[in-house]
Amino acid sequence: MTMIALLPGDGVGPEVTKQARIALEAIARKYGHDFQFIKAAIGGDAIDSIGVPLPDATLDLCRSADAIMLGAVGGPKWEHIPVALRPEQGLLALRRGLKLFANIRPVKAPAIPWPSSPIKPEVLAGTDIVFVRELTGGIYFGEKKLEPVAGCTKGGERASDSASYTTDEITSIVRVAARIAQKRRGMVTSVDKANVLETSRLWRRVATAVIRDEFPDVQLEHRLVDSFSMDIILRPSTFDVVVTENMFGDILTDEASVLAGSIGTLPSASLGHPDADGRQRGLYEPIHGSAPSIAECDVANPVGAILSAALLLRLSLGMNEEAACVEDAVATVLGTGYVTPDLALAGEPAFHTSDVGRAVARAISDGDVNGFAR
Ligand code: NAD
Repeated sequence: MTMIALLPGDGVGPEVTKQARIALEAIARKYGHDFQFIKAAIGGDAIDSIGVPLPDATLDLCRSADAIMLGAVGGPKWEHIPVALRPEQGLLALRRGLKLFANIRPVKAPAIPWPSSPIKPEVLAGTDIVFVRELTGGIYFGEKKLEPVAGCTKGGERASDSASYTTDEITSIVRVAARIAQKRRGMVTSVDKANVLETSRLWRRVATAVIRDEFPDVQLEHRLVDSFSMDIILRPSTFDVVVTENMFGDILTDEASVLAGSIGTLPSASLGHPDADGRQRGLYEPIHGSAPSIAECDVANPVGAILSAALLLRLSLGMNEEAACVEDAVATVLGTGYVTPDLALAGEPAFHTSDVGRAVARAISDGDVNGFAR
């Protein structure tokens, strides 16, 4: 029996994780697996029901689960409460509590470029990037201060957020990126701001040493985040594995989601070091947030969540064939024109979250979308 902790969270989180679960159940039926899903609260959902964004029971469940599937957290309903108690703190605490330092975000241009894409098909062609974002360090986890400033305008304040990285933190994440690159085209692009930031200068020195000493078969290039953010749109197909720190990775992957057609299509895996028994526990979630403006409308794209379930199968459960089956099913469904409004052209039909999810489950079971084709 495989235990999967299911944390739907807020906004569109419950809608998209429901479709990921349906896909996993279809896989279980097809391949004879026994997946047990245990639901737990996180984020605003947990604040409303239990009073804190990460209840102990949720953290304990996640520690004992084989893998964790999460939707998204946050929303305007909780924006007035103290920062330390907001939904996003639940997710940060979960990542920290489980020591999930490596966030893997594959970005592939669709085989058939979306007519709605703002990027020319010839620029998109061949784009296949894996972003490796450091997840438990940097400015998101550094000291935060908000203090009055004496002698300043009445009521004036100063805010600061500090960023820090250690050699060990950088070494760990660069190793993850290099191992992934070894199984792909063997290229790592390390993105920093070494012309200005001390953390980036350390990042660059450590990345250079790790690749030189441990991965001589991997080619490393360093890029400054500002010009890289331009090149990721101008020549995306030239990048293989991109490794970067927490905040740069957060921003760059939202930008890169344009390459895949919509932020709703991108999956992610957050991983720690493997256990002593070699098991790789992980947290799997689409890269998007809770999208409050479209929540409960059954229009959110479930593909990012469903593809996160495929990563769960591959990376935490070692089920490569099953993972490929989910990915093929998604490609079949999208290729048939079963898309939510974020991917549909104006005037073209768009489908509901639940329609797309059901079509994927059908494609998993039958290999096609019989009865769903428009
Ligand atoms: P968002 O990702 O929720 O939305 C950005 C845009 O993308 C919106 O236009 C939204 O409608 C659209 N979008 C997002 N997911 C979609 C999907 N599945 N299908 C179709 N369209 C989709 O980011 P935001 O608006 O900046 O943040 C909203 C809330 O989510 C905030 O409270 C934020 O803190 C939170 N957030 C949570 C996470 C997380 O849980 N990992 C990540 C980012 C933001």
